[in-house]
Amino acid sequence: MNETIIEGPLYEARKKVYPQAVHGRFRRIKWAILIFALAVYYLLPFVRWDRGPGFPSQAVLVDFPHRRFYFFFIALWPQEVYYFTGLLIIAAMTLFLMNAVAGRVWCGYLCPQTVWTDLFYAVERLVEGDRRERIMSDKRGWTLTHIRQAVTKHFIWLMIAWWTGGAWVLYFSDAPTLVKDLATFQAPFIAYLWIAILTATTYVFAGHAREQVCIYMCPWPRIQAALTDEWALNVTYRVDRGEPRVSVKKAEQLRLHGEPAGDCIDCHQCINVCPTGVDIRDGIQLGCIQCGLCIDACDTVMSEIGRPTRLIAYDTDINGQRRQAGKPPVYRLIRARTILYAAIIAIVGSVMLYALATRRNMSVEVLHDRNPLFVLLSDGGVRNNYTVHILNKGPERSFALDVLGLPGAELHIPGTAPAADGKLAVEVGQDQTREVRLSVQVKSDMIPQDPVVIEIKATETATGQAAIAQDHFIPPNQ
Ligand code: SF4
Ligand code: SF4
Repeated sequence: MNETIIEGPLYEARKKVYPQAVHGRFRRIKWAILIFALAVYYLLPFVRWDRGPGFPSQAVLVDFPHRRFYFFFIALWPQEVYYFTGLLIIAAMTLFLMNAVAGRVWCGYLCPQTVWTDLFYAVERLVEGDRRERIMSDKRGWTLTHIRQAVTKHFIWLMIAWWTGGAWVLYFSDAPTLVKDLATFQAPFIAYLWIAILTATTYVFAGHAREQVCIYMCPWPRIQAALTDEWALNVTYRVDRGEPRVSVKKAEQLRLHGEPAGDCIDCHQCINVCPTGVDIRDGIQLGCIQCGLCIDACDTVMSEIGRPTRLIAYDTDINGQRRQAGKPPVYRLIRARTILYAAIIAIVGSVMLYALATRRNMSVEVLHDRNPLFVLLSDGGVRNNYTVHILNKGPERSFALDVLGLPGAELHIPGTAPAADGKLAVEVGQDQTREVRLSVQVKSDMIPQDPVVIEIKATETATGQAAIAQDHFIPPNQ
């Protein structure tokens, strides 16, 4: 049997990328999104939201000790985790929809890895200069200037990474208090630990790993390859216009003689600005995060040489083929998959909105004792015992318990005397659940023949708001 011996390294060595500064429409969009996303991330924990006395006043808060998640006017309990399921479905479908419309638009503009790497590149350019200066500086080696610039750059990177970790922990506790505690070293150890972890990951991913995260670590490029189709807009080099590549001078001569000459002058500007070092002229590839910066670079070149812009543009595979066949482009944003994704988003979103709008801030659950099922009383009556859970998502208030469906029933809660109207009142603290043992008993002449369905009703004494739970009353000999 012949053996094939593969010589050479198994992995391609990393080629350091030195993205050049670029100006244009897509760069401006990216700056706007970067500023907005970072402002939201860093400042949101300080936004206040008045929920009344006793409740946290932070607009967005994950309150682990009390097992609550607060988002402005919404307060979710652990048993309402299905809202997160809904949110995850919407997030996934939104990602799919974005992909079906405009490829990896998430990767190019919105992904945290892209946003922070972009910020770190901006710092690098500010401190060490643009692409050419950075390449020259690396070639010169560790000169004093290089060392000073490197120290400054890494210090700023670490400060940004530290703020990133610091902002993260503020979502889990009252932000102003935690900032004070962190500064005076009185915050819990776990807060410092998380800041350290996020500082390290931000610094490594955005400062060092950069495009390697997108190319090798992230699963989304592989998933999106299975989700995209020939109608999705992707950053595309228009081969029909660009080829054959020739210099400006040569192109003029060729055109003068009526010979074909492409618009691409092989200036490599599209590669120089690319944050992942991709040559988009080789076609759509895994390394391309669809950020559109090569469009800006090429547009600048085309404007300078007096040729039409958008040699590189957002375009579809179908149009690539149509152009080569001399046919006009067609765009089809509304198609089966975009309709399906949009419909799922609309349906899940509507169900969630309806559930939120009709959500009650109290509920009651009841559980019949398994053993004994009933108790015969000395006067001939019968008693059934239950465990009742009253959930109060509002301020501290009182609930009157009542039983429906069992004529002549009397209620007892150990240690609680009935009110004047005969009903039992149970106090439940703010934002708490209370469990009570409830006995329901009937006299001998009111005992039903068969098990009957009963309803335990909890009515808020101040407002009359009520919640009902069903169970059974079980007579003897069952
Ligand atoms: S920037 Fe435009 S002209 Fe220059 S190499 Fe890229 S595609 Fe060709
Ligand atoms: S090839 Fe163009 S769109 Fe793709 S990552 Fe590079 S600059 Fe961005």
